[in-house]
Parts: sequence; C-alpha cells; structure tokens
Amino acid sequence: MDKATPKDVFQANRDRAAPLLAKLKDEGIGHMIDGKVVPSISGQTFETKSPIDGAVLASVARGKPDDIDRAATAASKAFKSWRDMPAMTRKKLLHRVADAIEDRADDIAVLECIDTGQAHRFMAKAAIRAAENFRFFADRCAEARDGLSTPSEEHWNISTRVPIGPVGVITPWNTPFMLSTWKIAPALAAGCTVVHKPAEWSPVTADLLAKLVKQAGVPDGVLNTVHGIGEEAGKALTEHPAIKAIGFVGESSTGSAIMAQGAPTLKRVHFELGGKNPVIVFDDADLDRALDAVVFMIYSLNGERCTSSSRLLVQQDIAEKFIEKLTARVKALKVGHPLDPVTEIGPLIHERHLAKVCSYFEVAQKDGATITVGGKPHDGPGGGHYVQPTLVTGANSKMRVAQEEVFGPFLTVIPFKDENDAIEIANGVQYGLTGYVWTGDMGRALRVADELEAGMIWLNSENVRHLPTPFGGMKSSGIGRDGGDYSFDFYMETKHVSLARGTHKIQRLGTTSS
Ligand code: NAD
Repeated sequence: MDKATPKDVFQANRDRAAPLLAKLKDEGIGHMIDGKVVPSISGQTFETKSPIDGAVLASVARGKPDDIDRAATAASKAFKSWRDMPAMTRKKLLHRVADAIEDRADDIAVLECIDTGQAHRFMAKAAIRAAENFRFFADRCAEARDGLSTPSEEHWNISTRVPIGPVGVITPWNTPFMLSTWKIAPALAAGCTVVHKPAEWSPVTADLLAKLVKQAGVPDGVLNTVHGIGEEAGKALTEHPAIKAIGFVGESSTGSAIMAQGAPTLKRVHFELGGKNPVIVFDDADLDRALDAVVFMIYSLNGERCTSSSRLLVQQDIAEKFIEKLTARVKALKVGHPLDPVTEIGPLIHERHLAKVCSYFEVAQKDGATITVGGKPHDGPGGGHYVQPTLVTGANSKMRVAQEEVFGPFLTVIPFKDENDAIEIANGVQYGLTGYVWTGDMGRALRVADELEAGMIWLNSENVRHLPTPFGGMKSSGIGRDGGDYSFDFYMETKHVSLARGTHKIQRLGTTSS
C-alpha cells in the first residue's frame, strides 16, 4: 500500500476533528464536580476560540467562588475513602486512566492542536506522554507512603507519609493536557483528591481528561474540574480553607499573587514558573548537534515552552559561522496549519499573546539589537495568530530581549568571550529554570553545570524528560520539585512516629516537697 502523503494525513486529521468539534459546540463544556457535568451556579459562560481562525469552539462554564466551594466540598467528601483505598486498587484505577487516554490519543492530539495552535507533530505524542505520567505514578502508589527508619538508643523512630488532603491544581495553556496530568497523576497516586482549574484559553482537553478519569472508574469527587478565569475561579481555589496545597504552573507574577492569596489559609505551594533559559555553545562543541538542539528548543511548541532555550550564548570565535547556519535554519521553518503534519510552528494561543510576542520586535529595535530573521506577524491559513519565527542578533545581556520571557518562537543571540563570561551572562537574569551547555570538554561541562543558577541542566543535550528526575526551577522560576518521589513529598505530609523501648529515664517533676 502507498504511504500516506502529508496531504492525506492533514485531511485525515481534519476528518477526525470535525465530529469532535461538532459535539463540543453542541454540548459545550461544563464543570466536573462530584462525578457530574454541571453548569456554573451563576449560569455564566465564556467562549473558547480556536487560534487558527477565531472560530468559537465551545461555550464554557465560568466558575466562581461558589462553584469552587462545591468542588472543594466534593473533594473533601471523597478524600477519606480515596486515601484509605488499598494502594493496589488505586494503582489499577490509574492504569485504567492511562488506557483510556491512550485509546483517545488521536482525538486528544487534534483537539489540542485546534484549541491551542500547537503543531500536530508535537501534540501527537502529548497524549502518549500524559498516559505515561499516569502509569509512572500508578506504579508508585504503594511506595508513596514509604518513610525512613532512624532508630536511636532508646527509641524506635520511623517516618511515614500521609496524603495532605484535597489539593488544588492550576495549569497554563501551553501543552495543557500533558502538563495537567503531570500534576494530577502524582496527587491522585499519593491519595489526595483534586480540584483542577485549567487555563481559560485552553479548556477543551481538560474537559476530556475529567471525563476519561470518570470513565476509568475513579470514584466521584476524586478529580473535580472547575473552568473559569484565573482571578475568579483560580483565586477562589487558592483561598479555599478545605484545599491544603496548590500545585501551580504559570507565570512568575501569578505565582506571587497565589502566594499572597494563599497566605491567610497557610497554603503549601509548589510553583513551576517562567524562564529565560540559556543554551551555551562553546567553540569545542559538536556544532551540528548543538545547532539542531538550539533550533528545536526554541522553535518547537511555538516557543510557548517554559524550558525553551530563549537565549543563545555562543562563543565569539564561532559566533559568525554559527549564526549564519542558524539563520538558514530559522528561515526554513514551516509555519502553517497545526493539523498539517509538515507544520513546525502553528498560530500562537491568543490574540493577546500574539500582541505580547510582537511587541518584542519593537523592543529589540529600541534596544539596538538586529532582527536577522522574522519580526512580523505571519499570514497563515485561517488568518489566525501566526507569527514569523524570529532571530535577534547583536544583543547584549542587559537588553530587555535578553532579560524578559517572550514565550514565543523568538531567540536572542548573545556572544561571549570565555567560560566565566558565559556563566555571568547565563546567571544574570531573574529566572533559573533550565540551562543547556554544549562543549567537548567534560571538565568544563561539569564546572559550568555547577555554576549555573538553574534547577535543571542538560549537557550536550536538549531537554529530554526522564520522569524520576527532579523537575523545577530556582530564583523566579519556581519553588519545589516535581518528578518521582519529589512529587510525593509535596502532596504528602511526612509524619514522625517514635516508640520508646521502655528503658529511657523520664525526668520526674513535682516530686520534691518544699
Ligand atoms: P498564567 O500565570 O497567566 O496562568 C496560569 C493559570 O493560572 C491559569 O489557569 C490562570 O487562569 C490561573 N491564574 C491566573 N491568575 C490567577 C490568580 N490570581 N489566582 C489563581 N490562579 C490564577 O500563565 P499562562 O500565561 O497560562 O502560562 C504561561 C506561563 O507558564 C509562562 O510564564 C511559562 O513559562 C509558565 N510555565 C512554566 C512551566 C514550568 O514548568 N516552569 C511549565 C509551563 C508553563
């Protein structure tokens, strides 16, 4: 049989999407509270639109504090029996969620493309990664409670972990399906119940996730999803007294707001925030591999990626040649319809985000940098929020384009002299999420890794996620770590239990007569 052409795949993707979109438009999106799809108590809704062509995809329930209260009450009610369910039963249920996600992976991919503008070549794998998140944490349900044994002379000391209670999970619009599962799966595996507030710009696959979790047999009230605006539903979730912790992924400024909002109820918080991540290319690196990684880490996922390497620090003596090759690659990037398999960059999520990204073209020029490629909106299919992939050269580390998170396909190149210079530039920003180092000198690779102020460093590699490893940032990029056991530490309380051997001396007070 002939292999399907890109044109065939594009058509097949559209054919797959059509009935899903018709159903979505017809049914709209409600909250999932206590296992039921419900409208907002106020009856209010908002519209979610496709970034491809502005088409209204669905009318979405607009959650307010009373809806959050209903969801938090359901999560509280479900908590004890979910917590006490045998770990092996919980494991089976979470594997069933993974099965359900895999069964619908192709649907999830096309819906995510249409709701967020992400290219299908990346979203095709997003649902598979989401299922892997569930499987990874499902397999660890039993060990979530594990603690330490630290005996002393007179006491047998053990620690154990217990789930903290109902938790809130607040997620952003970039790769929303995969990212939500990354927070929700460990919370459920730990024995917590969840109220999820997805981003208002990308509610479609969060709705599907809630339905798949129910379909898999997870009891009512264990995962509740309340849609709505950050300052309304999100804020109410962070303030609710029944919610014991907030796992948040989003902008650094929102993280600050959540910390303040959660202060009166002493919320435990876990923040995965913004980044302005450096990729440092030394002159002794494998430059072909470095070039592939540099291009991939800023122009994949529309550059709407917290771990993107948005600053290229390249050693002066190779800068000209490297930039020349980079320029050719950026010019050749394919901007197009997200469902077209040849597309590398789709439309940005929202007109407000497009305006933000485009505002940096002027900033670059005012800073005195040069726009070597791009620098304009792009006239793409459907007339949506497309932008040209942009390469800015001639920058120095003080410029705004070298300091601020643009969160689009926008790369700023800064040349450096030597190792010390590279480290100083790399660390000279408020963020500290990831760092990437390319060099043939392994001693230098380790020295630089040690000096970089970032939570995650890849040496001679792009970001390749391995689920047991810690994920998170330093400085304004976050608080706390996800991944493996680190996730359980956040969603659980560590409890110390000490049993006396019955031999130690207890001080006797009140035994002397005056
Ligand atoms: P955002 O902060 O605007 O919104 C994220 C979520 O927070 C949304 O659900 C929003 O409704 C909610 N929210 C907004 N205001 C709130 C408030 N006052 N109280 C409670 N909730 C509130 O972020 P975004 O624009 O959706 O996402 C992009 C940002 O996310 C970028 O800065 C990116 O770097 C960051 N991000 C970080 C990581 C990471 O792992 N470090 C991963 C992905 C995205």
